[in-house]
Amino acid sequence: MNKYSQGFEADTGKILNIVINSLYSDRDIFLRELLSNASDAIHKRKFSGQTNPAVLNKSDDTIEIEIDKKLKTIEITDSGIGLAESELAETLGTIAKSGTSSFLEELSGTDSNKDAAKTLIGQFGVGFYSAFMVADKVVVTSTKAGTSKAFIWESDGQSGFEISASDQSRNAGTSIKLFLRKDAKEYLDLAKLRTLVKKFSDHITVPITIKDNENEAEQANSAQALWTRPSSSITGEEYSEFYKSNFGAFDDPYLKIHNKTEGSIDFTNLLFIPKTAPFDLFEPERKTRLSLYINRVFISKDIDGLIPTWLRFVQGILDTTSLDLNVSRELVQNSPVLRKISKSITKRVLSELKKTLKKDPKEYDAFWSQFGKVIKEGLYEDFENRDKIIEIIRVFSNKKADNITIHEYLENMVDGQDSIYYLTADTLKQALSSPHLEGFKSKDIDVLLMTDPIDAFWMSQMAQFNDKKFVSISRDTYDLSEVGSKETKTPKKSKAAKGTIELIKSHIEELVADVVESTSLVDSPVRLIAGEGGLDFNLERILKSQNPEYEGTKKVLEINTSHELIKKLPKKSIEVQKSLSRVLYEQARILDGEMPSDAQKFSEDLIIVSLND
Ligand code: ADP
Repeated sequence: MNKYSQGFEADTGKILNIVINSLYSDRDIFLRELLSNASDAIHKRKFSGQTNPAVLNKSDDTIEIEIDKKLKTIEITDSGIGLAESELAETLGTIAKSGTSSFLEELSGTDSNKDAAKTLIGQFGVGFYSAFMVADKVVVTSTKAGTSKAFIWESDGQSGFEISASDQSRNAGTSIKLFLRKDAKEYLDLAKLRTLVKKFSDHITVPITIKDNENEAEQANSAQALWTRPSSSITGEEYSEFYKSNFGAFDDPYLKIHNKTEGSIDFTNLLFIPKTAPFDLFEPERKTRLSLYINRVFISKDIDGLIPTWLRFVQGILDTTSLDLNVSRELVQNSPVLRKISKSITKRVLSELKKTLKKDPKEYDAFWSQFGKVIKEGLYEDFENRDKIIEIIRVFSNKKADNITIHEYLENMVDGQDSIYYLTADTLKQALSSPHLEGFKSKDIDVLLMTDPIDAFWMSQMAQFNDKKFVSISRDTYDLSEVGSKETKTPKKSKAAKGTIELIKSHIEELVADVVESTSLVDSPVRLIAGEGGLDFNLERILKSQNPEYEGTKKVLEINTSHELIKKLPKKSIEVQKSLSRVLYEQARILDGEMPSDAQKFSEDLIIVSLND
């Protein structure tokens, strides 16, 4: 076979440059990335050997690092699964995983925002390419397990790579040779590399040895899986390094959950909850990031059903001796053992989150701002855990102008209140200035302001909590006259007003389901409510985005008959009355975050009304 060259895919070169520049100050991590790949490859070979003994390694698993001070190279050799010729081109020739272009967009011009860049880089697993931070040439020689031919992949990390067949016969596995850049000669220092191995890769279960031209090979890591050690013997830094090297993170986790469970099912979990949400949290194809091990043999990074989807941001490791290694992935996936483990870790995560919320609500809110939306999916779809989930959710209290728990809301209900009042809106700003709140403010009744699209769904699905009904203040009908303070600024119904109501109704009959007198408005002249069986605008917007044909329902216009504008209305000419009635209706829509139903007419009406003030 002749040597052949291939260019990198369009994005790859660009990404490489960004990686090299934004990670420059952390370039030690190239070693962590390469060692982690080597260890993965060894685990893959073991796993694949369970069903295909021909690929098994007959001797001991090793990862060797060899420093050549004369040639100024470092070579990392593993006894892993190896890469076939086509795999060399496919896996090392492209970083074009899904979302690469959005990745690039987020990175462009983010020189000032290197932390964000690093987080993204970790998530894309450009691990192998970090080699180019320290090397100006990388040569990968690999023999796929079960075959005898070796192939060579070679690149300067600039434009592309070359692939050729090797004339030497080698054992299965991969070796990666780095020709160090002029400014990276410090990595020829044996002591330095040993320190880095210890720091980044101590937990890798395969022995990692190092040698150079003068010194014999010596093991540099303790080669014990971190999660098998008792939690009390593991330092915070060790946990943190483990998290970073296994899950591509650059910061510490928000939470670490490490337990050993013995009984009818034996398993160990070491779970991490990140501080920041990954970019693909809401992409349908996103898999969970829990690695399953059976008796310390790595099985899979993304077994479905290991953790509910509303906890899909939880990362970590599950190691169990209660499953059989020799079964297929499908059987593992559907086994009752896995279901039990899943239930148990879900409970654990919930109880840990509850604890952290209690300990430091402010810090919890930072976490909540990243993952709250996802957790709320659980309220909607995980009936079994709903009561536990609701205890850890944060909701925005209009009265406190801050996040609270639902329990806090219940504790602070006023006399006569038997419902949980909420308002959904697109933004907090919109909610805060909503006329729907006026009656509640005047009676000092708290309202939960909900701005995530999913809120409207889970609240209507749940219907009630602790015997208290959820009531949407822009949709449901309610009567505040017996709730809270009896002294109220809200208008009393009057006979004289009846005529005005009928008048307005006659002018906008085709636009609304009804026009009624308000008992809750204080400062605003009007508001729209959904009325019996109707949906509020927010829910309608979501439904419309899913089905453009959906037209929505007609609303009920509530009139504040004490408002000056309303009092003046009957005295105007018929033409002005008509325009003013329509303006009032459109204004109520706008306050709910909607467009006017007829923008053209709205602007004409506005002119008529202002000319006749
Ligand atoms: P990631 O490890 O996140 O997938 P990398 O860029 O580090 O991303 O590696 C890309 C792919 O190249 C890996 O998924 C793996 O298939 C392959 N690979 C890298 N290093 C090795 C190795 N030492 N042995 C076998 N395959 C490897």
